[in-house]
Amino acid sequence: MGAHFCKCCCCNDVLVSSGTKELPVVTPLPAVTLATKKKSERTDLPHNLLRSIEKITSRAHSKPPTKDSSSSKPRSTYARLSKPITTLLENPPVYDVLVIGSGYGGGVIGSRTSRAGQKVCILERGQERWPGEYPNTFGTLMENAQVRSAVAPQLGSRDAFFDFRLEDGVYIWIGCGLGGGSLVNSGVSIAPDPRVFDDPRWPKEIQADKETKLKDGFDRAEAVLRPAQYPHQETKPLPRVERFQEAAAHLRKNGYPAAKAELAHVNVSFDAMSPNPQNVEQPACTNCGDCNTGCNVGAKNTVLMNYLPDASQHGADIFTQVEVLYVSKSEKKISREDEKDEEPLWDVHCILVGADNPKPNLAFTVTTKLLVLAAGTLGSTEILLRSRDQGNLSMSSKIGASFGADGDFFRPSFNGESKTNTLGYGDDKDGARRAAEDDSVGPCITSVLDLRDPTAPVDQGIILEDIGIGGALCEATNKIFSTLADVAGQPTEMDPKKLEEAKVREENSSKNPWASDGALVTSVMWGGMSFDDQQGSMVLDDDALRIKWATAATGGPNPPARSDALAKACCETPTIKSVFCTDPLESMFGSRGSIHPLGGCCLGDSAETGGCNHKGQLFSSGVGSDVHTVREEHHFYTFFSFSYYNYCTIIFFLLFFLPSSNMSFKKKKKELVRLRWISHTDVARCQSFVDNLSRGGALRGVHGRRSWLENGGE
Ligand SMILES: Cc1cc2nc3c(=O)[nH]c(=O)nc-3n(C[C@H](O)[C@H](O)[C@H](O)COP(=O)(O)OP(=O)(O)OC[C@H]3O[C@@H](n4cnc5c(N)ncnc54)[C@H](O)[C@@H]3O)c2cc1C
Repeated sequence: MGAHFCKCCCCNDVLVSSGTKELPVVTPLPAVTLATKKKSERTDLPHNLLRSIEKITSRAHSKPPTKDSSSSKPRSTYARLSKPITTLLENPPVYDVLVIGSGYGGGVIGSRTSRAGQKVCILERGQERWPGEYPNTFGTLMENAQVRSAVAPQLGSRDAFFDFRLEDGVYIWIGCGLGGGSLVNSGVSIAPDPRVFDDPRWPKEIQADKETKLKDGFDRAEAVLRPAQYPHQETKPLPRVERFQEAAAHLRKNGYPAAKAELAHVNVSFDAMSPNPQNVEQPACTNCGDCNTGCNVGAKNTVLMNYLPDASQHGADIFTQVEVLYVSKSEKKISREDEKDEEPLWDVHCILVGADNPKPNLAFTVTTKLLVLAAGTLGSTEILLRSRDQGNLSMSSKIGASFGADGDFFRPSFNGESKTNTLGYGDDKDGARRAAEDDSVGPCITSVLDLRDPTAPVDQGIILEDIGIGGALCEATNKIFSTLADVAGQPTEMDPKKLEEAKVREENSSKNPWASDGALVTSVMWGGMSFDDQQGSMVLDDDALRIKWATAATGGPNPPARSDALAKACCETPTIKSVFCTDPLESMFGSRGSIHPLGGCCLGDSAETGGCNHKGQLFSSGVGSDVHTVREEHHFYTFFSFSYYNYCTIIFFLLFFLPSSNMSFKKKKKELVRLRWISHTDVARCQSFVDNLSRGGALRGVHGRRSWLENGGE
C-alpha cells in the first residue's frame, strides 16, 4: 500500500493510494480551476438575474460568517458519521465497494453493501451537517449557496449546501451534503402511475418486473423512509390543507373532473422516535415548515437519519468534502486471497473541496473493486463524461442525452382572501412568527392535488402540491411575489372593496412577511410535476457540465399555458381568490425550473438506445449491449447511477450482481445474488421508493438469514 505527496508546482499535493505498489500519478486539473477559467459568450440567459445572484453570493461569501450563524458552527450533539480525510489519505485501503454520492442512491447502496460484509467507502462532495446546523436566515443561506452557470462558472464553494444551476433552458436547485437532496427536499412520497412503465423505451426486463420486484423495492423503501400524513388535521387543522380541498372541489366543477386532494405522504416523523430503527434520536415534527432549508428539528427522515447511519454502523467509511472528478480502469490489480488470480480495480480520481478544507484542491486517487456512481443526475453524468475525456473510458453516446425536468412548474398564488400559512419560521427567536401563523404551518408540503386520470393518456397527468417557503427565504420570496404580482399578476377578484383590502394586506406583508394580516400568509406556491419532452442534453464544456435544452418550456405534453391554466383555476377558488402569477422565466425566457432533474445516464436495451442496461451497467461502446466489467466471470458491475429518460420519471437504478456466500469475492462459482436498488420519482414523486429493490430475501441468500428489513431492521 503506497502513498506519496507530490509537491510540484502545477498539481497541488497529490496522493496516490495503490493496491500493491506505487504507480505513476496522473493529476487531473482540478475542476475548480477549470470551472472559473473563462466566461462563455452566452446571450440566452436572463443576465440581470445572474448578475443579481452573482452580487448577492459574492457579498455573502466575502463576509466573515455571522456570529450567530447557524451554519458556521456545529451546534448539534449528533454523533458524526464521516471520518477525518487523513484516515483515507494516510492509510488508503482497496475498497470492495466505493460509492460516489450520499443521497438516496448512495445511502441505500452504502447500507446494503456494508450490511453484506463488504468494505465500503462513501465519498460525498458536500459537508456533514446535522439538525441545528442548517441555515435559518437569508444571510446564512447565501453563505451556504453555490451557483453555477455558463456566464459565471462557479459562485460560492463547491461543497456549499444549496446547489443552484442556471443553464440554457432550465434553472435547477439540488442538494449538496451528506444525505444529498434529502436534506433540502420536501420528502413527498407517492407511488408512480404503473402506466409509466408501459413506455416501450424501458428495457424489457424492467417492464417484466413491474408488479413484482419493483413493488417489493417500493415497500422496502417505505419501511425505512416511513412516509406519513400529517396526523392532526382533525384536531389541529392546517389552513392550506383546507384550501387544497377547496381548490380540488373547484377544479372538479371547472374542467378537471379527476382532481382529488389528499394529505401528502411525507418522510417526516410526526411522533418522536427515541431512537429510530437506525439508532438516531428523532424529535417529533414541530410544524415549523423549514424542510427545504434543512430540518433543524431532526424530524425529517433524511438519508442522514437512516441509511447512512446504518452504513456507518456496519463499517462503511464515509468521507465528506471529497469531489470525484473522474474514474478510470486501473492499471493495478490486487492479488486475490486464493492467490490464483488477480482482481482488476477501478481508480477514482478525487479532489478535496471546501473553503474551510485544510488542503483544498488536494488531488488523490482511491482504488476499489466495485464502483457505484450515485452522484445524482448532474453529478453522475458529469463524472461519466469526464471519465470519457480524461479517463479514457468508452461509453455510449447516449450518456448525457435525454435530459428533462420531470415536467416541473412553479406558479405563485399571491395575496388570497383566506389564510394559507405556508411560511416557515426560520430564525424565530421569540416565537412571533409561529404565533402570527397560528402555529399551523406543518411540513413544507402538506397536500397533493392528484390530476392523474386513468382514462386520459398517462403524459397528461399532473400532481400539484402546496410548496411552503423555508423561513430563510420568506423575505426574498415576499419581494419576488409582490413584484411579480404588481408587474404581471392577474387578480382573480375584481370587487373594488376586496381589492382595497388586498392592497392593505400587501402593505402589511411588505413590512413583515409573517404579518398575520399580511399578503404572504394568504399566499401559496403551486408546485407541479408532469411530463416534458426530455430533449435536453448534458455536455462538458470547458470541463464544466452544461445543459442545453432548446424546447425546455414549450416542448412536450405540458407547455406553460397548460400549467398556467391549472394554477389560475386554483387561484380562482372562491375561498382563495388570489393574484395568479406565471413563471416569467418559463413564459418569457423559455427556461424551465426544476428540482427534479432527470436523464443523462438512461437505461436502454442497448448502447444505441441508452447509456446503461437494465442492471445499471455502463455500456462499453456506442453499439451493442456489452458492458464494462472489470472481471468477466464475476459480473462486477462497475458503476452507474442512472435515470431513465421516460417523460416524467426519474428512476435511478442500481442493480448488480455480487458473488454470494459470505460476499467475499473469492468464491467465484457460488450462486450470484442480485442486489437491486431503485431511486424513483415520477410525476407522482416517489422518493420513498428510493431504495433497494432486492428480490425478497436477496440478502437472505447472502447471509443465510432474513434480510434486515424483513427482520424489522435488526
Ligand atoms: C427543494 C427540493 C425539494 C424536493 N422535494 C422532493 C419531494 O418532495 N419528493 C421527491 O421525491 N423528490 C424531491 N426532490 C428531489 C429529490 O430530492 C431528488 O430526486 C433525490 O434527492 C435524488 O437522489 P439521488 O441519490 O439520485 O441524488 P442526490 O440526492 O442529489 O445525491 C447526490 C449526492 O452526490 C453528491 N455529488 C455530486 N457530484 C459529486 C462528485 N463529483 N463527487 C462526490 N459527490 C458528488 C452531491 O453533493 C449529492 O449529495 C426535491 C429536491 C429539491 C432540491
